[in-house]
Amino acid sequence: MSLQCPRCHSPKVASFHHAMKVGAAIGTVGGAARGVSAALAGGQAGALIGAIAGPVGITLGSVSGAILGGLAGGVGGCALGAQLGESLDRHVLAHNLCLLCGHRFNLPT
Ligand SMILES: [Zn+2]
Repeated sequence: MSLQCPRCHSPKVASFHHAMKVGAAIGTVGGAARGVSAALAGGQAGALIGAIAGPVGITLGSVSGAILGGLAGGVGGCALGAQLGESLDRHVLAHNLCLLCGHRFNLPT
């Protein structure tokens, strides 16, 4: 990757990727929260299915439904957040810093 400062054309440019990490973190938290509600719904559905199979089935159904729902929600949320953070990173925040003149700029499109 060869970046150049648009002001002084120096190749000594430092890049930051704060937005991507923040976006991924937000996505993970959001995904986990969504995963919890999905887990609750999954647990309820699992318990309903398990109820047909008896008391042991209720426990098994709830647990497996909760785990599956939580996993799906967490993974999906994290991927979505990373994507959101990356587009923020690319289009909104100036995250390249020229080490020569101190000019901050975005990636050239
Ligand atoms: Zn510069």
